[in-house]
Amino acid sequence: MDSIELAGIGMTSQRTRERLVKRLQEQGIENQDVLDIIRSTPRHIFIDEALAHRAYEDSSLPIGFNQTISRPYIVARMTELLLSKGALSNVLEVGTGSGYQTAVLAQLVGQVSSIERIRPLQDKARKRLALLKLRNVNLRHSDGGMGWKEKAPFDAILSAAAPSEVPEELLEQLAIGGILAIPVGEQEQQQKLHFITRTEDGYETDIIEDVYFVPLRSGVRIS
Ligand code: SAH
Repeated sequence: MDSIELAGIGMTSQRTRERLVKRLQEQGIENQDVLDIIRSTPRHIFIDEALAHRAYEDSSLPIGFNQTISRPYIVARMTELLLSKGALSNVLEVGTGSGYQTAVLAQLVGQVSSIERIRPLQDKARKRLALLKLRNVNLRHSDGGMGWKEKAPFDAILSAAAPSEVPEELLEQLAIGGILAIPVGEQEQQQKLHFITRTEDGYETDIIEDVYFVPLRSGVRIS
């Protein structure tokens, strides 16, 4: 981690980032705050050095342990969806991974609590978030399918891993009016992004689009 550089050079330059933002706009991302944060957040520090030159491409990339950093488009889309309900003060993220989505969220909402089941990924994410001086983030090593009861209720929950069925605990930890953005699907090729709102008397689900996420797995890994 000593070698991570915040300053953008070469493929991490301002022009490369601008191209990414333009691509996101072409794909329908409209929220200017989200676009500004994607432009200013150094995605290259969330990726191993060997792949950092691809950081501003709109693609997911491997981060080890068979996991991937999410595609900028999907990070922008999910963040935009969550913010469409208004200002958010308390957000839960399931699947910290590289910490990139966490960093984007942390700059747009009050407080982010983020859970990762693979300890070495969480350790790296913690260092990157500290480097960016993002202090409104709490990280936890556990099974995110159980939510984070002590921090609930949440006005938004974002899951970066796909279960075959929406975990009951996540629904229960939503505030009234709160929203859960979560990919759902048995097989990787057949996931749909669900956008679930908790109402006074139940839940309303909108199905947004086809998506590709890693599966939500139970249990934790320490190495
Ligand atoms: N937003 C992250 C996505 C990483 S991929 C990024 O852009 O880097 C999804 C992550 O979810 C993986 O790191 C995986 O280990 C984690 N994950 C899968 N199941 C989980 C669970 N039950 N609890 C917590 N994290 C989980």
